[in-house]
Amino acid sequence: MAGKIPRSFIDDLLVRVDIVDLVDSFVPLKKSGGSYVARCPFHEEKTPSFAVTRSKQLYHCFGCGAGGNAISFLMDYSHLHFVEAIEDLADFVGLVVPRESGEHQPKKNNTAEIFQLLEQAASFYVEQLRVADTAKPAVDYLKSRGLSGEVAREFQLGFAPNNWELIKRFGKQQLIDAGFPLSQAGNVYDRFRGRVVFPIRDKRGRVLGFGGRVLDDSLPKYLNSPETDVFHKNREVYGLYELLAKNSKPERIVVVEGYMDVIALAQFGLGYAVATLGTATSKEHLELLFRFSSEVVLCFDGDKAGRAASWRAVEAALPSLRDGRQVKIMELSDSVDPDDLIREHGLTEFEQCVAAAQTLSDYFFQRLTQSLNLNDMEGRASLVSKARGYLQKIPNGVFQELMLARLKELAKVDKLNFLENPTTLKPSRYKQKQEDVKLSPARIAVSLLLQNPSLIEVLEQREMNWSELIMPGMDLLKKIVEIITEHPNINLPRLMECFRGKKEEKYIGIMMNHDFFISGDELKEEFSGAIDRLISQGKELRLDELIAKERASGLTEYEQKDLLHMLTNRK
Ligand SMILES: [Zn+2]
Repeated sequence: MAGKIPRSFIDDLLVRVDIVDLVDSFVPLKKSGGSYVARCPFHEEKTPSFAVTRSKQLYHCFGCGAGGNAISFLMDYSHLHFVEAIEDLADFVGLVVPRESGEHQPKKNNTAEIFQLLEQAASFYVEQLRVADTAKPAVDYLKSRGLSGEVAREFQLGFAPNNWELIKRFGKQQLIDAGFPLSQAGNVYDRFRGRVVFPIRDKRGRVLGFGGRVLDDSLPKYLNSPETDVFHKNREVYGLYELLAKNSKPERIVVVEGYMDVIALAQFGLGYAVATLGTATSKEHLELLFRFSSEVVLCFDGDKAGRAASWRAVEAALPSLRDGRQVKIMELSDSVDPDDLIREHGLTEFEQCVAAAQTLSDYFFQRLTQSLNLNDMEGRASLVSKARGYLQKIPNGVFQELMLARLKELAKVDKLNFLENPTTLKPSRYKQKQEDVKLSPARIAVSLLLQNPSLIEVLEQREMNWSELIMPGMDLLKKIVEIITEHPNINLPRLMECFRGKKEEKYIGIMMNHDFFISGDELKEEFSGAIDRLISQGKELRLDELIAKERASGLTEYEQKDLLHMLTNRK
């Protein structure tokens, strides 16, 4: 049994989500002064009076008075229950909804305090970089890397001095709670001390943690804040906030390995790079990046570790490669990193390399075939068996089909067994010719109503008892009815918008395109007929259920009456 959603999780969710991104994913927003505006999705209007404010994390319509937070937006807009809205919202930010199970006490929620302390500490480090005598080695280091004051400010670079000032100012326990790496041996001190410090910010600009780089050759070269309640390394990337501040819809995003790469690229004019935080590139990282751009270019160091990281990132990317999304791989020559490349060859040449990055399919098959001899059958069989698991991870669609076609070509086979077997890999279910599609009454009803929202009048004219309709597909029909009831003039595009990113989205897309070749009154008759069949199906099901229950455990008085009524009124 799923338990209750912990209150602290809901709070955390609201802290994490950005309502501007959320609303924008349903209703495209335009920036206007301090807020973002659109025509209100909750009432018909010609000029925008619907505003979303990032600082308040609220939306409000000056026309109809609709308003609330991210959760209420989802509830109203997508017609969700509270729990469903929480689940969708968690999905949107890439979290899994935890459930309270009695044993686990929810953690004390002090997220807001942690964010505040991290922000203050970031300012502290920046301030310390300006203390002429102590910070000189750090300033010299940054200058030696060719970094301007402007870039240092943009990335809020700081310096952790070799003293106890940080601990004095913020308190040992508070720092530990916020995830500062403090040395506990002997005298407690800031483990970042003597390092250049990079605040790691989320896309909303909140400091989540820090990275620190030594100024000499001592080890470890980089040190990061540990994971905390607010800092999840496999979900955050370095540099995204700075990137989005320059361009909220970049054509592509380059992923590099190190913070210094991101900063150096920015210094040389390439403002669309991010870095993972000392962890492998995860599916969550890519999902995050794909929200802002449809192309992600992996540009890892030209060494063994970098190449291994590229392959792992490609593996992680496969499940995210829906049509329209692209991952490319920019391999650097031996022992070159992106920082070196742009320093030595400049922005233009670097960008040419980015543009010429290898497509994922080329890279994938090249890697997979490099140790195989495709001239013999064993080699080709081995290729198919190696590729199989990977290709199954790619979502159904054109890209997957292209990859499969490529595999067939390389393996010199016409047919791949695992493709035709629906239990392993589902070919697009709806690619069958339309004549072949047997539409159930539920599908006919959904499809007709989607395409002709005015058919709602047919339902309004009869007394619908939805509780009698318990067949598959009824939830969706009901949802559509609810939407149309609340927005009587809704059209198909807006109806579809209601299902964007929902589990029903794909199904809706197919049902919307089903052609009935009828119009006017015929539509009404067809729809009415489908509803009749649904009701009678529902009654049959209910009848079967009551009869079965009567035999198994007996019926309540109400159920007995119901059964009797159904049996006597049966045609
Ligand atoms: Zn409104």
